[in-house]
Amino acid sequence: MDKKIFSKKIIAWYEENKRSLPWRQTRDPYKIWLSEVILQQTRIAQGLPYYISFVESFPTVKSLARAPEDKVLRLWQGLGYYSRARNLHACAKKIDKEYDGKFPDSFEELKTLPGIGDYTAAAIASIACQIPVAVVDGNVFRVLARVFGIEEEITSNKGKTVFKAKANSLIPTDQPDVFNQAMMEFGALHCTPKNPKCQSCIFTKDCVANKHEMQSMLPVKASKQKVKKRHLNYIVIKQKGKLLMRKRGNGDIWNGLYDFLLIETKKPVKASGLRKQEKEINLTLGTTVMHYKHVLSHQQLIIQFIAATIPTDQLKALIKKEGLTFYSKKEVEKLPKPIVINRFLKESEFLN
Ligand code: SF4
Repeated sequence: MDKKIFSKKIIAWYEENKRSLPWRQTRDPYKIWLSEVILQQTRIAQGLPYYISFVESFPTVKSLARAPEDKVLRLWQGLGYYSRARNLHACAKKIDKEYDGKFPDSFEELKTLPGIGDYTAAAIASIACQIPVAVVDGNVFRVLARVFGIEEEITSNKGKTVFKAKANSLIPTDQPDVFNQAMMEFGALHCTPKNPKCQSCIFTKDCVANKHEMQSMLPVKASKQKVKKRHLNYIVIKQKGKLLMRKRGNGDIWNGLYDFLLIETKKPVKASGLRKQEKEINLTLGTTVMHYKHVLSHQQLIIQFIAATIPTDQLKALIKKEGLTFYSKKEVEKLPKPIVINRFLKESEFLN
């Protein structure tokens, strides 16, 4: 299909079918960036309230840069993939410090900022600065693979190069912003992963997948990564109405968030099965208070919360060894926490 016809058709479809979303009413690179980071791996309905509260709490990139990390993580709580929030903060700080609060206006320079890869840089460059560089996300992969019958595997290096080149060959120089948004919206609403609306499609006649009934085979994806099971046993210690918690350090999924004393085991164990650790720490474990299953992208967490007590003379040593602190109810509520910890606190009596 001729590239001009393709872009004209998809832009016309977009003008008629696009959803009205707050980040579509602006050319402010800060807000466009914010929306793109929040919406990565997140549905619009889930991400929208987060976008609104971020814009309200931090109306400018400078205000975000100068906020304490705990406040940023607390606002992000529930969205998952917390490295995105930490990168968001690091990026804002860099823009504040090195660019005086103004986003750079070139695709290449945008890519040097923390957490900004090809996808986000292309979105900011095209929407805020009208630079004709194509955005390639999951929706765009799907539309291109199906319409043009591209069978390269989408996560391979070759695949990425082929799809990027195709998208960049189609983008019109006069409307790069509208084209990019049209591609993503078309994939999200019309050429959906399951049950694409082929009968009423603007590409019915030309679409390779439709002609050869290959919709379910395209795009080609590598087989899924194996999900790792982890068994987390949280020991909850409460004294004088305060809870013993700690900030998680580097190298784990919840870096920077607050949780309890943790004993990770290879297999599921009952509270009574944690004898060895119990002896080492001098804990008196109660029974399990709550059980949860928490599914992340590549990990399945089997979590139990166990109430425990510890003799006063042992407490100091434990606090020092494990980097724990007692927090009051008010303080706990303000701390950024993994969603499963938040859920436990809401559903158990521990904060009352
Ligand atoms: S015809 Fe079907 S598969 Fe092809 S672009 Fe349209 S909705 Fe997608």
